[in-house]
Amino acid sequence: MTTPRYPFLDLADTNRPFQERIEQAVLRVVRSGRYIGGEECKSFEQNLARLVGTDFCVGVSNGLDALRLIFRAFIELGQLAPDAEVIVPANTYIASVLAVTDNGLRPVFVEPDPRTLNLDWNAVLNAVTPRTGAIMTVHLYGRACWDQSIADTLRRRGILIVEDNAQAIGAQALDGRYTGSLGDAAAFSFYPTKNVGAIGDAGAVTTNRRDLADMVRALANYGSDRRYHNIVCGYNCRLDPVQAAVLNVKLPAIEEENARRREIAEIYNAEISNPYISLPLPGGLDMVWHQYVVRVENRDGFTAFLDSRGVGWDIHYAVPPHRQPCYTRYSGLNLPVTDDIARSVVSLPVSPSTSPDDARQIAAVINSYSPQRAIF
Ligand SMILES: *Cc1c(COP(=O)(O)O)cnc(C)c1O
Repeated sequence: MTTPRYPFLDLADTNRPFQERIEQAVLRVVRSGRYIGGEECKSFEQNLARLVGTDFCVGVSNGLDALRLIFRAFIELGQLAPDAEVIVPANTYIASVLAVTDNGLRPVFVEPDPRTLNLDWNAVLNAVTPRTGAIMTVHLYGRACWDQSIADTLRRRGILIVEDNAQAIGAQALDGRYTGSLGDAAAFSFYPTKNVGAIGDAGAVTTNRRDLADMVRALANYGSDRRYHNIVCGYNCRLDPVQAAVLNVKLPAIEEENARRREIAEIYNAEISNPYISLPLPGGLDMVWHQYVVRVENRDGFTAFLDSRGVGWDIHYAVPPHRQPCYTRYSGLNLPVTDDIARSVVSLPVSPSTSPDDARQIAAVINSYSPQRAIF
C-alpha cells in the first residue's frame, strides 16, 4: 500500500523537533563510557518523579516489565498473596494481563463502562472477593480512570491499586493529581508510539512507597540490593541509558505535546458529524488522547473507505485478551461489552505530527462516508 496522505503515525516526523538534541544526547552516552545506569538514568528518574508527583521512580526496561516487577515486588514484600485474584479491565492491551498471569496471580476480568471504555468502578466493587489482592486500573487511550471514593473503600479492605499508565502520561484525576501518582504503584511505557516515546524499549515504575521502590529496583537488577548481594531471585530489567538520555530530551515537552493532541481531538469532536460514526467522550485535563477512538458498525467497509481516501487508521484492539490463543482458559467468559468494543473500534490519526488542517480534512472525509455507497 502507498503511504497515506494522512499517515496514522509517522515516528520520524514526531521526533523531528527533537532530532538534534536526541542525537547529541545519544552521542553523550556513547562518549561517556558509562553504558549501564549512570547519570542519564538517575536524572530521568528524578525528572519523571517530579513530573508525576511521586516520591520514587525506578527506570526499567519496558512497560510490561514495569507491571511484572510491581506485582512480583508486592508478593516478595508479603503484601500480595502469591495466588491472589487481581481485578483487571477485560478491555485492555494484553500486557496488562500478562503481568498478572506471569506472576501466577489470577486475573478477574470486569467489563468496561461502554461510554468511557475504561474500568467500571462499580463492576470492580461487585467483583471483589475475599481472595482479591489487587486491582489494576488502565488509563486506556490516555483517559484517567480513577474513582477516589471507591479507591478508598478498596484500600480500607487491604486491596492494592496498581495503575497501568502506559498510555496516559500527563493526564490528571479530578483533583489535579497526575496519573501514575494515584494508586500504590504505577507502570509507564516509553515504547516509541506512546505519548512520550523512546527510540527503543523503555519503562518506569512510580510510587510513594519506599519499600516497593527498593524492591522493584532490586528485582530489576538480579535481585541485588548492593553489589554481589542477592536478596531475591531477580531479573535483568534495567533502563538503558541511551533511552534515558533520549527521554530526558522529550519529557519536558509533554504538556505541549499533549496540548497538540487535545487540539486535534477537539477538531474531530466538533467537526465529525456522521450518524454512522460514534465519537469518543470529550475530555479535559483527564484525557491526553493517546488514541482517538471512534466506533462504527461494518468496520471493514469504513476502513476500506479510509484507505481509499488516504486516511491512516489502526485498531486498538481487535482481539481482547480473553479471546487470544494464549488465554484459551478464559475464552468461555461472557464479556459482551468487551467483545462489542473490540468489533467496532477504529483509531484515527492524533499524533503531534497531525496538523489542525489535516484534522479538518480528515473530519470532512469521514463526514462523506456512508455504508450504503459500496463504490468509493
Ligand atoms: C504499551 C502498553 C503496555 C506495555 O508497554 P511496553 O513498553 O510495550 O512493554 C502495557 N499496557 C498498556 C495499556 C500499553 O499500552
